[in-house]
This record gives sequence, C-alpha cells and structure tokens, in this order.
Amino acid sequence: MEQLADNRSPPAWEGRATGGGTAASSPCWSCRGPVGDADYAFCSTCGAVQPPLPITHFQRLGLASGFQIPRDQLDAAYFDQARRLHPDRFATRTPRERQFSQAQAVSLNEAYETLKDPLRCALYLLTLAGRSSIAQERTIRDPTLLMEAMEAREALEEATDLAAVEALAARQRADRDSCLASLQQLFDAGDLDGAEAVTLRLTYLAKLGEDIRLRRMRLAMSA
Ligand SMILES: [Zn+2]
Repeated sequence: MEQLADNRSPPAWEGRATGGGTAASSPCWSCRGPVGDADYAFCSTCGAVQPPLPITHFQRLGLASGFQIPRDQLDAAYFDQARRLHPDRFATRTPRERQFSQAQAVSLNEAYETLKDPLRCALYLLTLAGRSSIAQERTIRDPTLLMEAMEAREALEEATDLAAVEALAARQRADRDSCLASLQQLFDAGDLDGAEAVTLRLTYLAKLGEDIRLRRMRLAMSA
C-alpha cells in the first residue's frame, strides 16, 4: 500500500489533525480572502502572514506523509519556509503580524524537529493514526523486549572498560538501524500494529543509547 507515501490520497488521519475540516476553509484575517490552498502561512490574495492552522507537520512543510523523509527534502522544505518567516522580514510590520510570524516559526520548527528525528516521527505518525498511548508507556510489557532490556542493562553494568562499552554501542546502533528499516516497511505497508511494536523497541533502544553514552563518559572520566 502506498497510503503514507501518496500525497494525492491522504490517509484518514489527515482529517483528524485538521479538526475534520479542510485547512483551506479559514479566511485571511486581513482581507478575508481564502488561505491554505497552496500556502498555509501566507494569504494568497494579500500576502499577509496568517496564524498557524491546525494542520499536520507534513502539511506545514508541504511534504507527503511518511516515515523518514529524505533529509535533503526535509531540509529544503524547512529552510524555504524559515526564510519566508525570518524576523527581519517583519521588523517594520504591525505587532499582530510579528506575533503571527513568530507563531508560524515556532510551529515550523516543531514540525521540522519532529520529522527529523526517526523516533519522534514514528511516535507522531502513530499519534496521527489515533495510537497516542504508546508515547506515555513507561513500562515494557512485551516479554521479549523486557528480557532484551534486562540483559542489555546487565551487560552495561558489567562493562568496565571503554572497549566493552564500545562493543555494546555498536550493537545498539545495529539494532537501531534494523528497527528503522523495519519501521520504514511497516509504515509503508500501513501495518500499524507492527509499527507500534517496533517503535516501542526503538524507544527502549534510544534510552539504552543514552545509558551507554553516560557509561562511556563516566569511564572516560575515571580513566
Ligand atoms: Zn489576505
């Protein structure tokens, strides 16, 4: 299925994020003209900057929904919008326009930071699909994952030199890369149950990566 990769047939959750209506339905605050057809930040009639619409991060960047958007595409979309919202362009405008441009910039940065980080992007896609509980899960319920986490913690505690920690770090990176490859396939196939399970593992691996980093730092300092 190409649901996530095809902009022309947006998945069902796009409607959820826009509150059920279309983003294009909000008129411009300045001239009452239509906003959001091709450009969500500026009025296409008078050019006035608009307050941020409740659209998805993908829509805000003008990108098709999907997991791991190629970095060059993401950067190009972000910098293009960021340039148009640069504070210098609004220095002589009314306080209202300055406020809207700042709010747009905040929303744009949030979109960029979310889509740039694979784990945050996976959690966001699941949230858009109505599976928001996963981000709040604090305990690991999957027995296989629980066992993996316990073993990794033990191995990390027993790693008393940098070489041992580096070996664990290499393993963590390989596991993370394999999770990302699986997630790509699962999101592309619309398999949300599968994507949720792998995202949980990715969450755990991110935490492990942080623990490894701290362990490495402590060993380096005590050496
Ligand atoms: Zn206007």
